[in-house]
Amino acid sequence: MPKVLSSMNRMKRDEKKTGSVSRQGAFEISRKKMLQDQIISRGIRDENVLQAMYDVPRHLFIEEGMSFQAYQDSPLNIGWGATISQPFVVAYMLSALDLKFEDKVLEVGTGCGYQAALLSRLSHHVYSIERVKELFFKARDNLKQNNYLNITLKCGDGSQGWSEFAPYDAMIVAAGSPKVPQPLIDQLSEGGRLILPVGEGIDQELKLIRKEKSKVTMTSLLPVRFVKLKGEHGHQVESA
Ligand code: SAH
Repeated sequence: MPKVLSSMNRMKRDEKKTGSVSRQGAFEISRKKMLQDQIISRGIRDENVLQAMYDVPRHLFIEEGMSFQAYQDSPLNIGWGATISQPFVVAYMLSALDLKFEDKVLEVGTGCGYQAALLSRLSHHVYSIERVKELFFKARDNLKQNNYLNITLKCGDGSQGWSEFAPYDAMIVAAGSPKVPQPLIDQLSEGGRLILPVGEGIDQELKLIRKEKSKVTMTSLLPVRFVKLKGEHGHQVESA
């Protein structure tokens, strides 16, 4: 049994003793159930990813009125046409990236900041770009309030990457692009990994790209459905 789940039985015993469970306790139980039923049962075994998903309170990143839906097995609306991905998809992408704690990571599509918070627990520093100003501010507040400090945010077009801090050991794009943006490949370090949904329409294929000895390889992983990556190297803004 993964370590993160071993305290669950203890919590259930405490609950029996006191006959009640606090609001925080209830969220914690939902989080462990999410891990067990949606993530571990579907084959994700990366202990660091499981621990991060247990540690980061997903409900604090969405509107308070929706917090009871935070741990359900689906994506959730976060406004401005964006969604926070289904927990399994987030776990799958993070474990495919094979992150090391010393890695420098670029995230494109900060959204509400949830995935950035997970990345911050799994790597040395996270650079994250969001195109929509309102979401950029929302993510900034969410991350600051919850003390995720090794993250640098920017409001802009992430399809161009962020050359100032390149190269990156790992990159994760949370929006679907018709093709792999060349600047992202260029800004990937030797041995670097890039995961992103690629496809013209609403359905895409999740791809994992590796750069080794300057050679770039691409593997198809899974059919997915993400919102569009809008920008110079993604969907053109006028037609999107
Ligand atoms: N990872 C996020 C979910 C992101 S949803 C989370 O955990 O909440 C995808 C996001 O990509 C949306 O917020 C959308 O506005 C953003 N996006 C789309 N095109 C972009 C671009 N070119 N650069 C940066 N962000 C972009």
